[in-house]
Amino acid sequence: MKYTIEDIVKNDLCIGCGVCVSESKDSSMIWNKYGFLVPDITKSFNKDAIKVCPFNPQPDKEIEDEDKIAQYFMEDTPYKDHDIGHYHEIYVGYSNKFRPTSSSGGIGTYIVEQLLQQKIVDHLFVVKEKDGEYTYQWFDSIEDITATSKTRYLPVSLEKLFLEIDSKPGKVAVTGIPPFLKAIRLKQYYYPKYQEKIPFLIGIICGGWKSKFFTDYLAQKAGIKGEYSRQEYRIKDEASYALDYSFGAYDDNESFHQMKMKLAGNMWGTGLFNANASDFSDDVTAELGDISLGDAWINPYMKDGKGTSLFVTRSVLADRLIQEGIQKGKLNLEKLPIQDFIKSQLGAFRHRRVGLKLRLKELKKSDKIVPFKRNRFLVKAPIEYQIVQKQRRIIRYLSLKLWQEHKDVDKFEQQIESLLKGLNRKTVWYHRFQKIRRKLGLKTI
Ligand SMILES: Cc1cc2nc3c(=O)[nH]c(=O)nc-3n(C[C@H](O)[C@H](O)[C@H](O)COP(=O)(O)OP(=O)(O)OC[C@H]3O[C@@H](n4cnc5c(N)ncnc54)[C@H](O)[C@@H]3O)c2cc1C
Repeated sequence: MKYTIEDIVKNDLCIGCGVCVSESKDSSMIWNKYGFLVPDITKSFNKDAIKVCPFNPQPDKEIEDEDKIAQYFMEDTPYKDHDIGHYHEIYVGYSNKFRPTSSSGGIGTYIVEQLLQQKIVDHLFVVKEKDGEYTYQWFDSIEDITATSKTRYLPVSLEKLFLEIDSKPGKVAVTGIPPFLKAIRLKQYYYPKYQEKIPFLIGIICGGWKSKFFTDYLAQKAGIKGEYSRQEYRIKDEASYALDYSFGAYDDNESFHQMKMKLAGNMWGTGLFNANASDFSDDVTAELGDISLGDAWINPYMKDGKGTSLFVTRSVLADRLIQEGIQKGKLNLEKLPIQDFIKSQLGAFRHRRVGLKLRLKELKKSDKIVPFKRNRFLVKAPIEYQIVQKQRRIIRYLSLKLWQEHKDVDKFEQQIESLLKGLNRKTVWYHRFQKIRRKLGLKTI
């Protein structure tokens, strides 16, 4: 049987990248009932539209996974690692100019500024505010470059990228989370004219793709009863540690409401409001970007509330831009051993990779279609981790369902509390078992 985009959406494997919309005459991205953007599958798609889908269960052999795609696009990359893919160098630090106005160390903004300034590209396709909301947009103003800064934890889509790119003179750089980059690479593979047209991709490491419900929840939790706009997800507290950031948004009366994220509890390690497809992406570090950006969630950097970037250069061009920045004194960076980089994303590696086989089994058991995944990551998880994973999957699904039903912070928290406590208990047991395994000299994860 040959699968289609319709099957991807119906099986809840759509991440909402929107690239398939360019493979349809009249489809567009629409909001589904759980707060995610998905293509309108009541419209018709080209017969091979699924080829650009990052979760295609039947990809063409030559570019069947991130390894093969990287092999095709990253010939000039000197190193290859089992966990982080092709790379040139790993760095930690910040941009002197953009750190204060960025989510992390400001390397994202520094890179896009350089791409425009050095005329490597003529346009950016990046996430930016428009009428109080955030969407992917075309942008080319070096003077206003900080308007592109900051992390936006809500569904956005590349829908317009391939619908409009042909009318944009010159070259384009795009930012995106791992499955979005994969979709762009697939499109470039099947339409080689886009290889030259898009010479640079900025990967955003992503611990979980959240529903719009996540932001609705945070806005209510911060005290906004009705509509909100211009939300800020990463308000730094320079006097505190890096993870001690706040969420804030404007209400209808233009009052700004702000809340420390720690009041919302553990939003990233629990599966809350996550997209199902996000659980099936085994690319943790945005392996298909020229550069891949993340946060330095390791000491001593974590102690610094000003924020520190941790990132990988993969192409020669990306590394040149970074080296120039260091030499000109614009970037304050040091090289980081690969083990420290992996350590900073350990939770994501464990979740995405060790838990993957179990989740694929779950799909097969429930007669759902199964995306194609790299065999080398399909490992058997220890039983104590399987238990944690199962609870996370329940929380993921129920958090979306409960918010859809109530849209009320108090009712939501009342109903999700026991599940979160259950996850906590299971996680404690998981750590205990791992400790025992370690003492016995057995393999741990
Ligand atoms: C959903 C999500 C989950 C993330 N999870 C992790 C994680 O688990 N671990 C980790 O280390 N880092 C994670 N990050 C990345 C991190 O939060 C920072 O975005 C990254 O380190 C860049 O910081 P910066 O200061 O260099 O970027 P800035 O200088 O602030 O620039 C940010 C850049 O990111 C782009 N951008 C913002 N939001 C989006 C979006 N939704 N989709 C595509 N592009 C976007 C902007 O267009 C801009 O170019 C996540 C980011 C997102 C959006």
